[in-house]
Amino acid sequence: MASTNTFPELPLFDLQLQPQDLEAVAETLRSGWLTLGPRTEAFEEVFAEHLGARHAIAVSSCTAALHLAYMAAGVGPGDEVIVPSFTFAATASAVLYCGATPVFAEIVSREAPSLDPEDVERRITPRTKAVCIVHFAGYAAAADRMKEICDRHGLALIEDVAHAPSATLHGRKLGTWGLAGAFSFFSNKVLSVGEGGLLCTDSDEVAALARSQRSHCMTSGTWERHNGRTDTYDVVGLGYNYRLDEPRSALLLSRMGRLEQEIERRRELTMRYRSLLAGVEGIHVPFEDHEVPSSSCYVFPIMLDEDGRQAEVSRRMREQGIQTSIFYPSIHRFTAYRERFPGVSLPITELASRTELTLPFYPHMSNDDQDRVVAVLAGALAR
Ligand SMILES: *Cc1c(COP(=O)(O)O)cnc(C)c1O
Repeated sequence: MASTNTFPELPLFDLQLQPQDLEAVAETLRSGWLTLGPRTEAFEEVFAEHLGARHAIAVSSCTAALHLAYMAAGVGPGDEVIVPSFTFAATASAVLYCGATPVFAEIVSREAPSLDPEDVERRITPRTKAVCIVHFAGYAAAADRMKEICDRHGLALIEDVAHAPSATLHGRKLGTWGLAGAFSFFSNKVLSVGEGGLLCTDSDEVAALARSQRSHCMTSGTWERHNGRTDTYDVVGLGYNYRLDEPRSALLLSRMGRLEQEIERRRELTMRYRSLLAGVEGIHVPFEDHEVPSSSCYVFPIMLDEDGRQAEVSRRMREQGIQTSIFYPSIHRFTAYRERFPGVSLPITELASRTELTLPFYPHMSNDDQDRVVAVLAGALAR
């Protein structure tokens, strides 16, 4: 399908669906069954198998999956969950949904912008219930060390895997290191279908709870009743409407077949960007070459060496038709969080937020597109 983007010339993200994707959705619409049903079940099976996880529960968003994961970890009023601030707001807001407090921890450095295990350990208190790590940009955070720390302190490890489907650490899929992993299928993510998410877990108990809470803790769903398995239901707890629907599941199933291939292309483009940018003065590129083959390469972040130039460089690139973004503004600096949790200071995170720029990046980007981004960036950095 042709892109409908006219401006900017080179957008941050772009999505190309294939004719078979559209047909899978059309076929679902013609089937007459639109919510949670056979396609969602089929997708869950495929995704669980792909991850090597016992359970995959499709939900309406990654935010919903995080909420379910925190609840499954027993997070409630008075509890604390340690999270990064250098992430999307949902990682922390889902903690607040539980009536608990997000405790923000530092990233290692601007070159390795994932949670620092040592800083996490320093922030553990008797109220800490869980730690949520984010695999920023698709690169593995220290899940192995965090798992060891969580085990030692009796805490649940949750993974926000919104950026990192199919990425690995020591050959093991991200999302499968802790109690639960939360994936996103939001429109700009690696496996995007508009809105959608998924919780994976090896725990039968967590899976049963998430399946129940996803649909109002009802003892049977409409699909089961439709199939005559039962006529009535009971409500056995406080649940939510976190269901995924069938058209999106059909689109996920269809796109899933090309996931590895698309990520492979993302890796090639990432390596190409890295080598082109090695010659550009005034920036550095987070992560290392050897991390690329196990990453999902969701976005391409760079860090400006000089503090205070982010808005100017971004504006100059925009004037040349190149869209950039900031991944991420620090959560603890947002109005709602500053008011509620004043006095949080995370110097490395704050510097990263002030100097990061995310460059245009998508699997069907051409070499010419990349050359253009790099040339415009070099021009924007020049005084
Ligand atoms: C996108 C994103 C989310 C939220 O995903 P939704 O599916 O939009 O709810 C959570 N965490 C991170 C790190 C994200 O990038």
